[in-house]
Amino acid sequence: MRLVLYSIKSKIVIFAVIATLLPTISLSLLSFKQNEALISDSVTRELRILADNTNRQLDQWAEENMLAIRALSTSSPVIEGLTTLKQFSDSKSASAVKQTQSVMASYLRSVQIKLDEVLELTVFDATRKIVASSSTSTPEVREPPEQWTHTSLTSGTIAIPPAWNDRFATATISIIYPVLSYDSQLIGAIAATLDLGTFESRLAEIKKFSSGEIVLLDQHGKVLLGSAPGVDHQAVLSPHQWELIQMFDEPISYDGLSYPKAIGLAHTSENIPVTILVEQDHSAIQAAWIKLRNRFLEFVSILIIIVTAVALYMGHSIVTPLKQLINAVKGIVEGNLDIYLPAKRRDEVGQLTDIFNQMTRALRNKHIEIMTANQAMQQQNQLLQKLSITDGLTGLYNRTKLDTILSEQLARFKRHDRPFCLLMIDIDYFKTINDKLGHIVGDRILVTVASVLLKSIRTIDYAARYGGDEFVVILTETNSSAAIKTAERIRAEVNSACLAFKEHPAHITLSIGITQSYYDDITPNDLIARADAALYEAKESGRDRVHCADA
Ligand code: GH3
Ligand code: MG
Repeated sequence: MRLVLYSIKSKIVIFAVIATLLPTISLSLLSFKQNEALISDSVTRELRILADNTNRQLDQWAEENMLAIRALSTSSPVIEGLTTLKQFSDSKSASAVKQTQSVMASYLRSVQIKLDEVLELTVFDATRKIVASSSTSTPEVREPPEQWTHTSLTSGTIAIPPAWNDRFATATISIIYPVLSYDSQLIGAIAATLDLGTFESRLAEIKKFSSGEIVLLDQHGKVLLGSAPGVDHQAVLSPHQWELIQMFDEPISYDGLSYPKAIGLAHTSENIPVTILVEQDHSAIQAAWIKLRNRFLEFVSILIIIVTAVALYMGHSIVTPLKQLINAVKGIVEGNLDIYLPAKRRDEVGQLTDIFNQMTRALRNKHIEIMTANQAMQQQNQLLQKLSITDGLTGLYNRTKLDTILSEQLARFKRHDRPFCLLMIDIDYFKTINDKLGHIVGDRILVTVASVLLKSIRTIDYAARYGGDEFVVILTETNSSAAIKTAERIRAEVNSACLAFKEHPAHITLSIGITQSYYDDITPNDLIARADAALYEAKESGRDRVHCADA
């Protein structure tokens, strides 16, 4: 796990992911926040437009109805009826009054039927008493408000503010208009109860171009009507919600009337005492937000996948040649110099591979040089070793080596009871031969004697030059009688070989002293001394002969 984390590949991946994530997340969060604000702005804007449109339509609806009632207040049946009644009030003619009132009531009924928005029309006289009504039961407006005539004599006023009306099973508003005689005397008033429910069709029109719903509330937060189908007319906003909605000029979130959870904005109409509440579905806005968030997460995930893939590829392209280099260096450490890495790339890794190849080439060349020098040195050493134990002229073992061989043979003889013989050989009158024939011929004779010795002994025997014209032969596994025979053969061989010289044939004789190994012998010198004594005997008794010390 640690190794994986420390590898170049994982470092590149971690760096790439961090380097991508940091700016991406910060930028995305920024745009995410901006988008969130945009969503909120657009919701606010839509709600405001909806509220303004509703307000405008409501004003228009009120104005149209006011105009209709005003027209009615100036209609001749109403003016003339009230004028007549005023005259009759002096004459106290009850039947005439009744007839006039009945005519007026018929007129009001006929008008009320024609006007869709009007539910009831009632006429009052100047003393604020009901004179006639389109309704047969008690009218909604029973008397005009106290101060209504003082405000204006020409404009209408609201007699009963908008409220749910159980009798008509709809929301109603009652307005009242003064009635003036032809000579502009106040002679009475006409009140109309209007069906606010007729405004619902207009709400549907307004809503067509928006994604929200509209609810009209009375002065106490009670539902009057709404654009949503089946809006609950019994619904009332809780005092807390009612207060909250009226307090803020900005959209707020609450338990909606058209949606379970809504974002809404309240607007109080200036001309009619109603509150226009426009609402949007909170869950739909949240869904837009969630969609935005999911898109952001998708974007980041795709980005991470792409970046990780690219980083892995880059890591791979760096790590693979590095691993090859590591394996190659391991190979060199283990002694394999025949390594070549193909440098296919032109980047730093390619340069490194190139240098590595140059290095191995240089190492290879150095290695060959060292191996050659080593071989030469070994040959030199072998030569030196050979020279240290051989005689330069004859190639036989020298005296030093002879001492070693004798010591070994003596020890072997004592261990395994294998006797051996030592022959001490000396050329007779060699000084004279030298003088006569010269040193070069003398040397040739010495070389000839040596080659005869080598030819005459077995591979298990040894021949050495003891010094000057003296030679020693060691015959292993041999007793003195067998040694005598060998010595005689040597003598004859040397004689005939030297006689066979093409130039200056020489008559060469040898004196040979022989001794066998004894248990009393302690050092090589003990044997040599005995053989030397035997040689002396051979010389003394006339030369050209063999003398054995053991005879
Ligand atoms: P003897 O029969 O008593 O042995 O008589 P000798 O003349 O051989 O006497 P000795 O063995 O004492 O003499 C050895 C001579 O060998 C002396 C020297 O001139 C000669 N000599 C020694 N080494 C060499 C050598 O390497 N080359 C040659 N040509 N002569 C050598
Ligand atoms: Mg001699």
